[in-house]
Amino acid sequence: MTDQIAAVVTVTDTIAAIATATGGGLGIVRLSGPGAVSLAEKASRKSAPPPGQLRRAQIFDPEPESGEPLDDGLLVVFRAPKSFTGEDVAEFHGHGGPQVLSSVLGAFLEAGARLARPGEFSERAFLNGKLDLTQAEGIADLIAARSDDARRAALRQLEGGLKTAAEAIVGELKFALALTEATIDFPEDVGELDVPGVTARLDAAISQTEALLASARRGRALTEGITVAIIGRPNAGKSSLLNALAGAERAIVTAIPGTTRDVLSEQITLGGLPVRALDTAGLRETTDEVEKIGVERARAAALAADVVLVIADATVGVTDEERELLEKHAPRALLVVNKTDLSPCDSPGALHVSAKTGAGLEALGERVAELLTGDADRTQIPLVTRARHEDALRRTLASLLAAHETLNLSLPPELLAVDLHGALQTLGELTGQTSRAEIIEGIFRQFCIGK
Ligand code: GDP
Repeated sequence: MTDQIAAVVTVTDTIAAIATATGGGLGIVRLSGPGAVSLAEKASRKSAPPPGQLRRAQIFDPEPESGEPLDDGLLVVFRAPKSFTGEDVAEFHGHGGPQVLSSVLGAFLEAGARLARPGEFSERAFLNGKLDLTQAEGIADLIAARSDDARRAALRQLEGGLKTAAEAIVGELKFALALTEATIDFPEDVGELDVPGVTARLDAAISQTEALLASARRGRALTEGITVAIIGRPNAGKSSLLNALAGAERAIVTAIPGTTRDVLSEQITLGGLPVRALDTAGLRETTDEVEKIGVERARAAALAADVVLVIADATVGVTDEERELLEKHAPRALLVVNKTDLSPCDSPGALHVSAKTGAGLEALGERVAELLTGDADRTQIPLVTRARHEDALRRTLASLLAAHETLNLSLPPELLAVDLHGALQTLGELTGQTSRAEIIEGIFRQFCIGK
C-alpha cells in the first residue's frame, strides 16, 4: 500500500447511514467505527448483545428528558476485525418507513456518529484489507445488476474472481522478477539470466492476461448495458417488437403509420445483456413537422446505438431502403424480418421473427449478444467488467509484450526488470494496491450511501 492510503487508514470517527431502501417492511441503519458499539448502547439504553447475535432492542430519542422510543427492532454488533468493514459495526434492524429510519439515524448522529459518505462502508472495508478494489466494485455492480448474467458476473467479482486471476499473474511476474534481479544483484553467484525460466513465466502471464481481456467486451456490456435502436419504415412492427421483447405493452401500437413520433426507451434483457431498447419513429419522408423531428431523432439514436435492428415487413419484403440502412450502420446492424406469421419471407442473412407470436425472438437476442461480444463464450462468467479493469490489463499486456521483446533481443536484465515492474504496477492499480488515493476515492463516491 502506498503511504497516501496508509494515512487514510487511521480512522477515528464512527459513520452511520440507512443501509436499505426506505419504504420497505424492514429497514437497517448501520454504524461502523471505533464508537459503533458504544453509540448503539447509548441509543438503545442497554448493553450490546455478543457479536453476531441479534437481540431485541428499542432505539430512544437521545434527548435525556424524552423517554420516548423511536422504533422497536433487533440489534446486532460485530467486533473488529471480524466485520464487513474490519471495524466495530452495529446494525439496528427496524421498520422500513422513511420517518422511522430517519429518526433512528438521527438518534445515532445525535449520539455522536457522522453521516457516511456514499460508499464509505465499502471504502473502509477496502482500506482495512477486507476487500480489494475489484471486489468492492463487485458490490456496487451486484446492487446495480439489471440482468441475471450481470448479477452472476458481479457476484463472481465480489467473491474475488478477478482478484484471484490478477494474483495468479502477479505470482508469475514476481518469480520472473526474482530470477532477473538475482542476476543483476549477484552476477558472480547466479551467473547468466535463466532465459528459459523467465520466458516460461512471462508466457504464462501473457496468456492469462489475454484470456482475461477476451471477456472484457461482454463483461462491460453486462455492467454498463448496451443500447439497441429499432429502426425501419413505418408500420414494419417496430413498436410491436419492442413490446414483445419487453413483455409489456409500453409503446403505442396502432395500424396508422407514423404513430411513434419520439424515441421511446425501454429497459429489457436481450441475450442475457441489460439493454436499453429504443423504439424510433418510422423513417419516411414527411411534411408533418412533429413527425419530421421524430425521424431526425430516430436517425440520431441509430447513429449512437451499440446495435441497430433494421426491421423489414415480411408482407412487403426486404426493400432497397432497408438494405441501405443495413449498409449505413454496418457492422453494428442486423436485418430483422417481422410479421413472418403472415407471410413466409426468406431473405438470406436476415433474422425472421414475429412480434405477434414471439417466434424468433430468442434467436434475435443471441445474435445481438454475438454481434456485440464476438465469440466470447456465453457460458463463461466474464471477470473483466469495467473499462477501468480493461485499461489496466491492456497496459499490463503492453509491459509484458515489451518484456518479451527485451528478452528476445537479449537486452540487459535491468531493462527487463523495468518492464516487469511496469506490469506489476498496472496489476496493482487493478486491485487497488498501487492506485492513487484520489482514484480510489472517486470509485467509492460513485456508490450509494449506506453501502
Ligand atoms: P411501427 O410503426 O413499425 O412501430 O409498427 P407497429 O408496431 O405499430 O405495428 C404496425 C401494425 O403491424 C400493427 O397493426 C401491428 O399489430 C402489426 N404487427 C406488428 N408486428 C406484427 C407481427 O409480427 N405479426 C402480425 N400479424 N402483425 C404485426
